[in-house]
Amino acid sequence: MKNLPVLLLLCVGVCSGYPLDGPSRGEEGSMDLVQHYLENYYNLEKDAKQFIKRKDSSPVVKKIQEMQKFLGLEVTGKLDSDTMRMMGRPRCGVPDVGHFTTFPGTPKWQKNHLTYRIVNYTPDLPRQVVDSAIEKALRVWAEVTPLTFSRMYEGEADIMISFAVREHGDFSPFDGPGMVLAHAYAPGPGINGDAHFDDDERWADDTRVGTNLFLVAAHELGHSLGLFHSANSEALMFPVYKSFTDLATFRLSQDDVNGIQSLYGPSLSSPEAPRVPSPPEPATPAKCDPALSFDAVCTLRGEILFFKDRHFWRQSLRTTEPGFYLISSFWPSLPSSIDAAYEVASRDTVFIFKGRQFWAIRGHEAQAGYPRSIHTLGFPATVEKIDAAISDKEKKKTYFFVEDKYWRFDEKRQSMEPGFPKKIAEHFPGVDSKVDAVFEQFGFYYFFSGSSQLEFDPNAKKVTHILKSNSWFHC
Ligand SMILES: [Zn+2]
Ligand SMILES: [Zn+2]
Repeated sequence: MKNLPVLLLLCVGVCSGYPLDGPSRGEEGSMDLVQHYLENYYNLEKDAKQFIKRKDSSPVVKKIQEMQKFLGLEVTGKLDSDTMRMMGRPRCGVPDVGHFTTFPGTPKWQKNHLTYRIVNYTPDLPRQVVDSAIEKALRVWAEVTPLTFSRMYEGEADIMISFAVREHGDFSPFDGPGMVLAHAYAPGPGINGDAHFDDDERWADDTRVGTNLFLVAAHELGHSLGLFHSANSEALMFPVYKSFTDLATFRLSQDDVNGIQSLYGPSLSSPEAPRVPSPPEPATPAKCDPALSFDAVCTLRGEILFFKDRHFWRQSLRTTEPGFYLISSFWPSLPSSIDAAYEVASRDTVFIFKGRQFWAIRGHEAQAGYPRSIHTLGFPATVEKIDAAISDKEKKKTYFFVEDKYWRFDEKRQSMEPGFPKKIAEHFPGVDSKVDAVFEQFGFYYFFSGSSQLEFDPNAKKVTHILKSNSWFHC
């Protein structure tokens, strides 16, 4: 069942209103009405009858309060006259609680950081319009959960997004223009989590003509994250496409928020997030700790940045005390615990690496179009992370260190040079332990490995000094 996609149908939702019998005179009759009402619309368990006559029975009181809150009554927990009158009014037959639903078995991602990939594009829209519709659709969910998303450009992402017509390889062929617009699969490996869009639709950027890609994508990605349909017509997860939605004021309904938070919890930054004890944060590193090591070191506009976990030191050669900052306070989109960083001064850009991805920053600004895959630089698929990197501004070459080998990238041609990788120890004699970080200053390369640092003269091809890793901090 998990593999069955959810169809977004253009059928008309029927929500039939019907009058309930008014409250009977006898207390017994009233109690039956209350029982019936709470059972049908507020999921009161059928066997709770024994409790309902006990005025202090908390499950029933709780349900009454829930109903009063939902219907905009004063929340007293008592069957007062306003409440009894409301219960006697005609209403829709769809329950007021449990509106959102999840898939059978409640599949969800077992991690909060997910990857997505836009596998192909519709001819109906410019590519950047598709990119931003998908990004915006993911943001809708990321804003109310701890979930984060990063884009992949090749390989298998958690959520593979594609456009297709008719039969497209998953036993759920699309149906030509109209009716089914798209479908998506519940979280899991392989095809699970993927979203398919019917390219016989006319995909549009607004809601006047054609089908708005952002709205449908936001709905489908709700499925990709584990939500099934909601019977709440206000909800994004309502199965019928609503072309009249005002995009400028679009927001998730409370029902969608309740649904997604039932799977992943609230956003960590949201003010209403409950104060759950968070896992202990890594201790703030001390700059004069003799055992200090770094994740990455690079220059930035004449200063040196030393990265460690969530922080970095910023050492200006004009001052003696380095500044100490959270990476996220400068560049919110960058990850912590990065692998490597280097500056290309001629482009005024610093490249930051973590895992198979890299980012570009210019001063305070993260550059658009990132993260990108390190494989776009020409690394083979076997390379899963970079240990350290340095760009030689004279020769316009960038060296990437990966375990005991290095690659050389030509910054002028923007391509990896042939004949690499080569052994580090052969071309950088004396640099024989794993490189954590490297940067260039005064024509020397400074290699960091654990708590030690080697000053290397690239012209003489030898190590000229052995230093402590934190020698730049004047400890
Ligand atoms: Zn759907
Ligand atoms: Zn499909």
